[in-house]
Amino acid sequence: MKGLFFDGEKAVFKNDLPMPEPLPHESLVCISIAAICNTDREIMRGYKPDFKGVLGHEFVGVVEKSSDPELVGKRVVGELNEGCGECIYCKTGRERHCESRKCIGITQKNGCFAQYMTIATRLLHVIPDSLTDEKAVFTEPLAAALEIPDQIQIRPSEEVCVIGDGRLAFMIAQVLALTGAEVTVLGKHEEKLSRFKSFAKTATDCGRRFEIVIDAAGSPTGIETAMKLVRSKGTIVLKSTYAGNASVNLSQIVVNEVTVLGSRCGPFAPAVRLLSRGLLDLPQIELHELSEWQNAFESRAFKVGFDMRLP
Ligand SMILES: [Zn+2]
Ligand SMILES: [Zn+2]
Repeated sequence: MKGLFFDGEKAVFKNDLPMPEPLPHESLVCISIAAICNTDREIMRGYKPDFKGVLGHEFVGVVEKSSDPELVGKRVVGELNEGCGECIYCKTGRERHCESRKCIGITQKNGCFAQYMTIATRLLHVIPDSLTDEKAVFTEPLAAALEIPDQIQIRPSEEVCVIGDGRLAFMIAQVLALTGAEVTVLGKHEEKLSRFKSFAKTATDCGRRFEIVIDAAGSPTGIETAMKLVRSKGTIVLKSTYAGNASVNLSQIVVNEVTVLGSRCGPFAPAVRLLSRGLLDLPQIELHELSEWQNAFESRAFKVGFDMRLP
């Protein structure tokens, strides 16, 4: 089968990858659409030096074989992290933090930039007929945005700042705007910020402070900006992952008694519900053939992916 393989240094398109065989607890998914995420770009820049395998973790597909026969033929999306099931994290509802977890397309598990992928059956979520593949493929990034209201209380009367004008910031700002909170998006590009205007205030510079500041800038400068924008006793939520380190003065966090919260993957079921209800305004994903992966990675479209059904 065809797939986009990361050899530890670079991505290589292959036509002769072996067909994956599901383990007894797994399903075999025929991938319909797979989307490129910033994490894929970071892996190609050296964020996960130990990973070798098929890239990609955002997908919609159809189950072909499964440990749960009722799932065969169903359209699904799937969570990334498969814990060991035995450790303190797995046994206390923190499977996404299991230290020996596999993570599709990121750690010890082949991802979805291929015609077929295997995945633990319990990580799959069936999507309703009303939800198109092109919208359902946003489930994973939307779930990551929903992790924030799962972690902290966002009061509708609160003012929240989101740093960043990319895809992650777009999902986060929309989710937070649904709470009724007034959301200000601080970005660098006027043309990207224009997408946010229907649900948030936008700015390229900001001289005021906020109770809650979300860093979704995708670069080490995000936290520096967040430190300038957060009020004393306020909260900074860090959503960006990147290769390399940020440099911040931690004393400022102590003196101002700022809470800093890391936030990664989130809950899939509410993300599917929100998408099904059409409550989000999502741009059209731009789809490419997998063999033209370089064009896809270079595209400046809002969301880019692969239509795996193309020949
Ligand atoms: Zn992702
Ligand atoms: Zn575990």
